[in-house]
Amino acid sequence: MLVGTDPTRLLSFATMSDDDAAIFPQHGSSPADVLAKLESMRVGDLDWRSGRAFSLVYNPGDDDHEHLLEQVATMFQHENALNPLVYPSLLTMELDLVAMAAELFGTASNAGSISSGGTESIFLAVQVARDHARQERGVDEPVLVTAITAHPAFAKAAHYLDVEHRFVPVSDDGRLDTDALAATVDGRTGLVVASAPCYPYGVIDDVPTIAAIAAEHGSLCHVDACLGGWLLPWFERIGEPVPPWDFRVEGVTSISADVHKYGYTFKGLSTIMYRTRELVKLQQFWYDSWPGGLYASGTTAGTRPAPPIAGAWAAIHHLGVEGYLAKAEQVRDAGRAFVDGIAGIDRLRITHPSDIPVFEFTAPDGSIQAIADGMDRRGWHLDRQQGGLHLMLSPAHLAVADRFIADLADAVAEAPVGDGDPGELHGTYGGIV
Ligand SMILES: *Cc1c(COP(=O)(O)O)cnc(C)c1O
Repeated sequence: MLVGTDPTRLLSFATMSDDDAAIFPQHGSSPADVLAKLESMRVGDLDWRSGRAFSLVYNPGDDDHEHLLEQVATMFQHENALNPLVYPSLLTMELDLVAMAAELFGTASNAGSISSGGTESIFLAVQVARDHARQERGVDEPVLVTAITAHPAFAKAAHYLDVEHRFVPVSDDGRLDTDALAATVDGRTGLVVASAPCYPYGVIDDVPTIAAIAAEHGSLCHVDACLGGWLLPWFERIGEPVPPWDFRVEGVTSISADVHKYGYTFKGLSTIMYRTRELVKLQQFWYDSWPGGLYASGTTAGTRPAPPIAGAWAAIHHLGVEGYLAKAEQVRDAGRAFVDGIAGIDRLRITHPSDIPVFEFTAPDGSIQAIADGMDRRGWHLDRQQGGLHLMLSPAHLAVADRFIADLADAVAEAPVGDGDPGELHGTYGGIV
């Protein structure tokens, strides 16, 4: 298993400039020239507005919403949330965001914070668990236990924070294998992770059983709802079957959930919530020996950009409960259209029926590679996973569902039947420049 740095695999990109001159510009350019240059540079970028991409951007499909967020980002462009005490507006919005997340995830404790994204929320949860094990239980070298489907941010956090990481397999349904978990967790376990849902298959782990196993050994239990946290509460209210996953489950001690996914704000806003105030205190950092004055910070960053805070607050106030319920219905309907369409194509199979419209499908006859290429040629950007192609649906996908299924049927018809070996696709989720 590769964890950490592997210099042999580093990707390298040529610089954009093809002359040999120094890269740093000698002369300034007019705003119009800079904008024109940027416009020409981005022609090759992923076109998410078309609805033909299925990751990286969660598109509410709503021009007023997008325009509002642009205005808010400009309004708060230069403010710095490093010291919210001099920006009462940011302080209010930050406290509101934490309180709204607490309400949404079923805890009265109001203990948590906002962060820059899912990876930072996960780092904080792992750090809190490590220090909780050391300070409260006398376990000096606590262990992190996750399923193999848990987001790589956990492996990264374990690597950076020098915490041992043990993996457990998943069952046939793609959910963490709780028997394997029970055999792995012991007195040294500091944190057990459940996903709600996991990214590759969109299935929610058995949170009540996982939290009970953790609690039995005195371990904390984190639910990674980075993907589902801002969708599942609305799914539950529109009557979709949602397995228990939040603070209403006994033994769940922290939850990460990204507002910049199904909360429909732009990048840079996640929430990390705890069951108790004692836990959130472990992530706060105080330093009083600096000539610059007392330094206090609640998360990893020092200087924090204000636009994500104002953007998230604005998105939530623009949509309200009613707006989120309407968006949830669109996501549900998009999911049904895609799932039914794929089920109607003989040679395709969804690998693990999912809890939200995020899932993987493949062609058991071994032709998925050719089908993937056929979809690329038709202008769709499907992510390739080890086990097949990945779909993650936003409200904007409802409008393209019929076209997608028609193109998929064509791509399947055109792909020669494979040799019966499903094989592995090779996908890339992140990148290094
Ligand atoms: C998006 C996501 C994360 C966080 O990843 P980032 O790259 O930091 O946004 C964590 N877990 C799951 C399940 C996710 O989908």
